[in-house]
Amino acid sequence: YPTIGKMFELTVDKYPERQALVYPAKGQSWSYREWDERVNKLGHALIASGIGKGDVVSVFLFNTSEFVTTLFAAAKIGAVFNPINFRLAASELAYILKDSGSKAVVFERATAEQVRVAKVQVPGLQLYLYVDETVPEFAQSFYDFFAEFPSERPDVEVKQDDWYIMMYTSGTTGQPKGVIHRHRDMVEQNMVMISDQKLTCHDRGLCAAPLNHSAELHCLFLPRVHIGACNVILHHFDPQQVLSAIEQNKISVMFGAPTMLNMLLQLNYQEFDLSSLRLIGYGGAAMAPAMVLKCHEAFGAELIQYYGMTELGPAVTVLYPNEQMAQAGAAGKALLNHEVRVVRVREGVPSEPDDVVKPGEVGEVIVKGPCMMVGYHNRPETTEKALYKGWYHSSDLAKIDEEGYIWITDRADDLIISGAENIYPREVEDVFYSHPDIVEVAVRGLPDNKWGKIVAAFVVPKRPGLTAEELNEFLLRSDKLAAFKRPRRYVFCPALPKTPSGKIQKFKLDELLPETEE
Ligand code: AMP
Ligand code: MG
Repeated sequence: YPTIGKMFELTVDKYPERQALVYPAKGQSWSYREWDERVNKLGHALIASGIGKGDVVSVFLFNTSEFVTTLFAAAKIGAVFNPINFRLAASELAYILKDSGSKAVVFERATAEQVRVAKVQVPGLQLYLYVDETVPEFAQSFYDFFAEFPSERPDVEVKQDDWYIMMYTSGTTGQPKGVIHRHRDMVEQNMVMISDQKLTCHDRGLCAAPLNHSAELHCLFLPRVHIGACNVILHHFDPQQVLSAIEQNKISVMFGAPTMLNMLLQLNYQEFDLSSLRLIGYGGAAMAPAMVLKCHEAFGAELIQYYGMTELGPAVTVLYPNEQMAQAGAAGKALLNHEVRVVRVREGVPSEPDDVVKPGEVGEVIVKGPCMMVGYHNRPETTEKALYKGWYHSSDLAKIDEEGYIWITDRADDLIISGAENIYPREVEDVFYSHPDIVEVAVRGLPDNKWGKIVAAFVVPKRPGLTAEELNEFLLRSDKLAAFKRPRRYVFCPALPKTPSGKIQKFKLDELLPETEE
C-alpha cells in the first residue's frame, strides 16, 4: 500500500492536468499538478522551520483549500495532521494544541480571535500561519511562508505504519481525546469507499460538511482524491450555496448529516438543476425514515448511509442505495472487511465480546475493522478500555433484526448531536457548576426540527428569579464553551429525579417539561 502522500502523488502522476480542486471562496481552481506543487512547497517550508517526522501540524480552519493543502504537505513529510473543530472556544483550542503537542497551527480570519487568546497558553507552538490578508502581528502569511521554496517533491521516507492523523473527539468524560490513525488505515478506508460509492476519476464531489470531521474527510474527500476525482470545497455549510454549487459545478457526489439534508429540503430545491447528482451519502446521526423518503424524492439521487465513529476510521456499517426504502431507519450491515456485534451491556465494565444478544434485543455495538485507531494520544488506559479484547466498544445501543440489519437505537452516554455537532452534557454541566446560584443541573438533548436536538438545561436554582438570560450571559463570559454547546432551553425545577445512590436519572427529565408540550 502507498502512504497518503504517495497515494496523492500517484493520482497527480496519472491525471496531472485534470481539475482537482475548486475553492470558490477564493476563486481557486487547481489541476492535480498545480495542487501538488503547492503541497510540495509547503512541505519544504515546514521542514525548513524544523517541522518533520512525527511533529504535529494543526489546522484551525473551516473548509478551505489551505486545509487540504496542509493535509497532504504534512502527509508527505511524515508530520501528523491535526484538524481542529473550527467552532471550539479559545480554552478548548488551547487544550487540544497542548495535548497534541502541536508545533504549528494554520488558521484564518474566522478563527483568529480564538488563536490569539489561546496563544499564551501554548508555549510549545512555534509556527502560526494565517491564510487570509491582513496577517495578525503574531503570525506569518501562509502563502509567503512557502512562496520561495521549490515545487519538487520533498524527499522524506514515510511508512504505512507512521501516524497520518490525530483527530480529537469531544470526549465523554469532558476532555477531548486525540484519535490516532496511520497512513495504512486511511488508504484501506479509501478503497472500501471507492468501491461502495462506485467512484471514478470522472466524479465531482462537493465538500460542504466540515472536513475536520471524519465523515467528510475520510468517507468522501480522501477516497475521491485517491481515485482522481475533482473536489469542490465550500467554506462552510450554507444550504442555498450548496444547491447552487451542485448546479454550477455539476456535482455528482456529496455528503450531509441528516440535519444538513433537512436544511436543503426546507429550500426551493426544485429551482435548481440537480440532475448531475448521482449519490448522496449521509450519516453521523440517525435519519428518520420519513426523511430518507423525502431526500430520495427531492434530490433524485441515490442515497447511501454510513454509521461509524472517528475511532474506526470512521465507517462501520453501510446501508446501500437499493436498501434505503425497505430498510429506512436501519444503519445497514457491516462494511467490507469489518465485523460488528451487538453484545450485552454490563454495568461499569466493558461488554464481553462473546456475549452476543439475540436478534431484536438491544445491546452495545462493538466493532473490529482494518481502519481501527491505533489508540488515543497519551491515554493508554482509556485506549485499553475502549479496545477491550480487540473490539472497539462504541457505547452506542443497537439491535440486529432477523435479517441481520443493524438499528442504532440510542447512545448509552446521552450524547447530544445538534446540527451534526457532538455535545456532551457533562461539559456543559461542569461549567454551570461553577455558577454560585445553581444547586444542581442536568443537561439533555430535546428533539428539534431544525437541529435534530437542542441542548436543554434542567436547573435547580439556589436563588429564586434566576433567569435563562443570566445563565446565557454567564456562559458567554466564562468563554469555556463553544456557542453551539450553550443551552437553547432552560427548565427551572425544584429538584432532579435521582436513584437511591444519588445518580441523576436523565431519562426522567422529560417529565419536568411543562404539560402543554409534546
Ligand atoms: P463521531 O466520533 O463524531 O463520528 O461520532 C460517532 C457517533 O455518532 C456514533 O458513536 C453514533 O452514536 C453516531 N452515529 C454516527 N453515524 C450514525 C448513524 N448512521 N446512525 C446513528 N448514529 C450515528
Ligand atoms: Mg465518538
